[in-house]
Amino acid sequence: MSRSENQPSIVWLRNDLRLSDNPALTAATSEDRPLVVVYIHDETGDGIRPLGSASKWWLHHSLTALDAALQKLGGQLTLSHGPATQVLPALVDELGATSVHWNRRYTAARDIDAGLKASLREQGLTVESHQGNLLNEPWHIRNGQGEPYKVFTPYWRAAQERPVRDALRAPTTTTLRWLAGSPASDDIAEWNLLPTRPDWAEGLRETWTPGEQGARNRLESFVTERLADYHRRDEPAVDATSGLSPHLRFGEISPTQIWQRLRGTGSTDVPNPARNNVAKFLSEIGWREFSTALLFDNPRLATDSYRPAYNAFPWGYTVDQIGGVDEPAGVSEVEAWRRGRTGIPLVDAGMRELWHTGTMHNRVRMVVASFLIKNLLIDWRAGEQWFWDTLVDADEASNPANWQWVAGSGADAAPYFRVFNPILQQKKFDPAGEYVARWIPELGTKNYPEPIVDLAETRREALEAYTAVKAAAASN
Ligand SMILES: Cc1cc2nc3c(=O)[nH]c(=O)nc-3n(C[C@H](O)[C@H](O)[C@H](O)COP(=O)(O)OP(=O)(O)OC[C@H]3O[C@@H](n4cnc5c(N)ncnc54)[C@H](O)[C@@H]3O)c2cc1C
Repeated sequence: MSRSENQPSIVWLRNDLRLSDNPALTAATSEDRPLVVVYIHDETGDGIRPLGSASKWWLHHSLTALDAALQKLGGQLTLSHGPATQVLPALVDELGATSVHWNRRYTAARDIDAGLKASLREQGLTVESHQGNLLNEPWHIRNGQGEPYKVFTPYWRAAQERPVRDALRAPTTTTLRWLAGSPASDDIAEWNLLPTRPDWAEGLRETWTPGEQGARNRLESFVTERLADYHRRDEPAVDATSGLSPHLRFGEISPTQIWQRLRGTGSTDVPNPARNNVAKFLSEIGWREFSTALLFDNPRLATDSYRPAYNAFPWGYTVDQIGGVDEPAGVSEVEAWRRGRTGIPLVDAGMRELWHTGTMHNRVRMVVASFLIKNLLIDWRAGEQWFWDTLVDADEASNPANWQWVAGSGADAAPYFRVFNPILQQKKFDPAGEYVARWIPELGTKNYPEPIVDLAETRREALEAYTAVKAAAASN
């Protein structure tokens, strides 16, 4: 074999920690060169949003699972850390690689990718990016004027008109060739992704199995056990949703695989009552796509109001006054919200579910966000940052897009006058009080706090505050 045939092809994994339906991996293996699969822990690159604590926990386990899967195929995952702009070119040099493949990301970090693509190509390498994390590229779904959609329904209608490709198979030992002599790899323990003092991750371990196999099991149990109840997805006490969000966030499963399992080639055995809920479920996958498209066109979605008039909103406290997520909040109401001690049962149950499991039911996310923004008049960015740190599915697109949706400042957002009443929401969606009792054992005893605010009065104040936004919108 000549030297050039031994020059490897590198697959650079990021938010696509899976072997099946991974277009970058498939493309690299089809080159019939030795393969190197690398993950770079980059916390400092331009446009990188450093991971929150719960996401770090997930990442540790997801990478460990992926390494084990690669080892079964005779290979390994190469781990490296530092700015990708330096680490990747150094690895290319060291290995004499001739090609690099990755699946696209849609955050501000895509500028890193564009720069690397240009400079490595200049050196004569083959560098290809692939579509692995979305059903549709944001730039393929545009309205009649060629502009991004601002409203979900027409966006999703247009998106569904495009065909979805078949899901790709994982490589096998017969399709893979590994580089003889593995490149040096970091020890993941040295990245300190797991909490130690204190180890708060017990609830996360009880709830989740990060990794591709865990994702596949979730999808299968959803299709056979929970999808039939998906019309009850708004009831937090009922286990009726997929639980796929962190798996999607880290790319342990792709939306293409989910689509094909429910509507495409793999859908023939979906049982009948469940079949009625498929369109609604896939539209939620559509919200993920829509949020990602919004982020693609608005890279500062986590910091800037999508509707500029909302910059005039008279928040009760600034994000600086509240402080970072690693210390007690500088505002007592925010600290009560974070800890689930507001005296409003549905809000407290949700915040405690989040703290314990790293997730929160979607309906309750809307309620706790509305309470923070509209009853406490806290800037939505403070809530977004708390979710970023505590959610295992914390997503650079879905998290700010949904916070802005609740605040009223986002695309296709809830109208500003929609202030969720958490008491009525509980009556409607948790009528037997099962969910709140699950998370607040002291409910109904003197140990449970009195409400920290009057809901009716704070609702009135919020509506008054929104007049500043209306005035700013009118003068624009
Ligand atoms: C304030 C707020 C913050 C949120 N932050 C995030 C976040 O950081 N990451 C995240 O994945 N979701 C976020 N969501 C959306 C939603 O709450 C979760 O996706 C959902 O609860 C995950 O549970 P599931 O996988 O069982 O959902 P399912 O009902 O089974 O939905 C299937 C998939 O569709 C996607 N999805 C569902 N609803 C939405 C939505 N409203 N927006 C975007 N995608 C959606 C998710 O990928 C989800 O896994 C947020 C919602 C709110 C109100």
